Amino acid sequence: MKKSPILQTDVLILGGGLTGLSVAFHLEQAGHTDYLLIEKNNFFGGLCASHEKDGFIFDYSGHLLHLRDPYALTLVRRLLGKNLAKIKREAFIYFDGKRVPFPFQANLWALPAKVQKECLDGALKAAQSACTKPKDFQQWCRCAFGEGIYKHFMLPYNQKLWQTHPRQMTCDWCGPFVPKPDISQIRQSVRQQTRTPMGYNHHFYYPKQGGCGALAQALACRVPNTWLQATVQKIDFKKKEATINGKKILFKRLVNTLPLKELVRITVTPPSVQQAARLLKHTTVHVLNFAINRRIEPWHWIYFPQDQVPFYRVGVQSSFSTHNAPPDTTSFYVETSEKITDFQASQKAIFQDLIQKGIIKKQDKILLSFWQSIPVAYAIYNKDRASATHKILHWLSKNQCFCAGRYGLWEYSFMERSLLQGREIAEKLL
Ligand SMILES: Cc1cc2nc3c(=O)[nH]c(=O)nc-3n(C[C@H](O)[C@H](O)[C@H](O)COP(=O)(O)OP(=O)(O)OC[C@H]3O[C@@H](n4cnc5c(N)ncnc54)[C@H](O)[C@@H]3O)c2cc1C
Repeated sequence: MKKSPILQTDVLILGGGLTGLSVAFHLEQAGHTDYLLIEKNNFFGGLCASHEKDGFIFDYSGHLLHLRDPYALTLVRRLLGKNLAKIKREAFIYFDGKRVPFPFQANLWALPAKVQKECLDGALKAAQSACTKPKDFQQWCRCAFGEGIYKHFMLPYNQKLWQTHPRQMTCDWCGPFVPKPDISQIRQSVRQQTRTPMGYNHHFYYPKQGGCGALAQALACRVPNTWLQATVQKIDFKKKEATINGKKILFKRLVNTLPLKELVRITVTPPSVQQAARLLKHTTVHVLNFAINRRIEPWHWIYFPQDQVPFYRVGVQSSFSTHNAPPDTTSFYVETSEKITDFQASQKAIFQDLIQKGIIKKQDKILLSFWQSIPVAYAIYNKDRASATHKILHWLSKNQCFCAGRYGLWEYSFMERSLLQGREIAEKLL
């Protein structure tokens, strides 16, 4: 790792998360070493980092590897070797005091009779009506699943997660993320549990040791030209100059993985680009991590669509790997998109809710607990997103700036795409 930064570079990579690391790794592999990756934290990995605390390993909420692309899988296997497990998802939706297997829309058998009828009737009606181009996410849900499933799950859950009404969102993101059983599968699911694997995460991969951060570490140790604790403060494309920790660095090409909004904020750009950036909206996610002094029957995560419950998902960190927690303990993460002003009061309310819902018991000893905040968590697919990102990315590309990653492209994305986009950008640069 370089101790003092070089003053000029061919490729300056902003951000040492998985995307930035993947760009640098693929440049290295091709023998192009004239790059510098800068990262503001004193560790690599961004949201793919893991942190050890009192013998427990916590990721930034659940961080599981969804690897469908053959190259991505081969790369991860190469990087992690034997330190990789393939795991079958055990996920549920908390509904009417019970656990309904995920996805809700393909497990109607587990619902109370009245709700089940509403969901089935709605799905049958939707299947009969022609709906070719839904104008928003609300219409997309109604067309795909019908009124009942929309009312009982899609609306309340998504409103909670996105802090936005589905009517105000587009459906540009749903394709890979929302399992879409056809009408015969929905009908069949009234009688029996769906056996067809559904959703992009029905199986996932996870490092046996070191948490998800083991992947970022494996990449980082193959990437020598880096600068940690380096915050980019200003970009001037006319001068091809970046100000980093007060120092000027000259570059020829720039790779951005920072949130697009943040990049525009620190860049000298025309007012129309600044204006477009103001239209980009996002959620902030707060994660309460904690551990208890007993082992529970393992499951991976549970969704909570109820609007009176302050969190949208609870996961069991220790269920992904036995190395994530000491023996005879269980570690959890609780995710909320709600605004929190008093973290102590929120934590108290969350524990009460978890006891009431049977996730933990009153007599359990809390071994540790701490909050993590993800200030920019989900880019919201509001109606302005597509045109605003197009305008910003077009201007940046004219200035030899390549954007990638969930935040650099302002999209709903996951780690596999970070790895693949990193390779794509490196190929363009070469
Ligand atoms: C709650 C949540 C759960 C998720 N779960 C999953 C999952 O289970 N599976 C999955 O595949 N994906 C998941 N994701 C998505 C995944 O985290 C991202 O797709 C991926 O980690 C993005 O990597 P990145 O490098 O593009 O961005 P980041 O990880 O955000 O990296 C960007 C880096 O830039 C640095 N940076 C920011 N500003 C500056 C600055 N001014 N100067 C220098 N450096 C700066 C940051 O410190 C950071 O390290 C989840 C995301 C969230 C929010």
